[in-house]
Amino acid sequence: MTAEDVIVESKVSLYDATRETLAGVMAGEPTYRVDQVWSGLYKQFQEVAEITTISAALREKLSRELPTSLALVRESVSDKGDTVKFLWRLVDGNHPIETVLMHYADRVTVCVSTQAGCAMACGFCATGQAGFNRQLTTGEIVEQVVRAARHAKQRKQRVANIVFMGMGEPLANEPAVWSAIERFHDDIGISARHLTVSTVGIIPGIRTLATRPLPVNLAVSMHAARDDLRDDLVPINKRYPINDLMDACRDYLRVKNRRISFEWALIAGVNDTARDANELAKLALSLRPSAHVNIIPLNPTPGFPTRGTDAAGVRRFADRLRDRGVNATVRRNRGTDIDAACGQLAAGQPVVLTARRNV
Ligand code: SAH
Repeated sequence: MTAEDVIVESKVSLYDATRETLAGVMAGEPTYRVDQVWSGLYKQFQEVAEITTISAALREKLSRELPTSLALVRESVSDKGDTVKFLWRLVDGNHPIETVLMHYADRVTVCVSTQAGCAMACGFCATGQAGFNRQLTTGEIVEQVVRAARHAKQRKQRVANIVFMGMGEPLANEPAVWSAIERFHDDIGISARHLTVSTVGIIPGIRTLATRPLPVNLAVSMHAARDDLRDDLVPINKRYPINDLMDACRDYLRVKNRRISFEWALIAGVNDTARDANELAKLALSLRPSAHVNIIPLNPTPGFPTRGTDAAGVRRFADRLRDRGVNATVRRNRGTDIDAACGQLAAGQPVVLTARRNV
């Protein structure tokens, strides 16, 4: 076996590689060359082939020894180009995953997937309906952001926010998610207050996140404020019921000193009544400072018959929360027509690619 074979067998992906791994592959090169590549990757969002500060031979070696992980299958655009959904195939096994890039007037947000599929089985969520394939690696999470950022760069915009609200349950893949957060923070330069982890309420994951050094935002997908209803909507509630979840939120809040947000997908006749608003207000106000509520009218998905609450109902629900002193924001539905809106990410069957395109 040659030295070359050994490297091939232990191949790390480009975005899973730490700076030390990169330095190892670039052994013999001066440190500033490693820095140039690292900054090409994470500051300029260049492909290895575009990093012309290093020799063609070195670019070729890096591409061979540190391959990328995502092949673009389709790029869908809506909202006059402001919402872009990327459908990728994981090159090692064909699983499809999705990433959404959202341009706002003053900022660009990337919504990343953390798992191929999801095991949480929330009935109203398209990813939950499709089931679980596998965990994503840190590199697969990081590459989604890098390639979305490369796309944003064409419009001279920089990614300002990253939300872990794509496919999958981030806190069921916490170690990989945490390493991705470090890369976003330390190398891409996004502050903790612009990083948001959204969870169905995996209590051990919340507790682990609380021990991590950065105060990232925590969003909890609440959707119901009483256990019988939440058991139905978010089945993991049977293992991690609301009272215990609130204790974990309270501890996170105490350690991080960061306001927690609750996500609430308004489902007509299910969780949009005055009673629901009152129960939610009570829960939100039981945290200090009280939780911020993000209201999302339910987006339609194939496997869930119920509709989203209509505009008047949404207003009534939000007003009731505000009357009780709760901060509530109604979130706009972005990318509904390209199935890129909240809960619509379900990349369908594995796709066989005939040609590979890079973003
Ligand atoms: N698993 C994580 C992150 C992914 S989902 C979590 O549950 O938080 C991101 C958000 O979209 C969650 O709040 C989720 O409940 C919500 N969502 C899922 N399906 C939806 C739908 N059909 N309409 C609106 N929001 C939905």
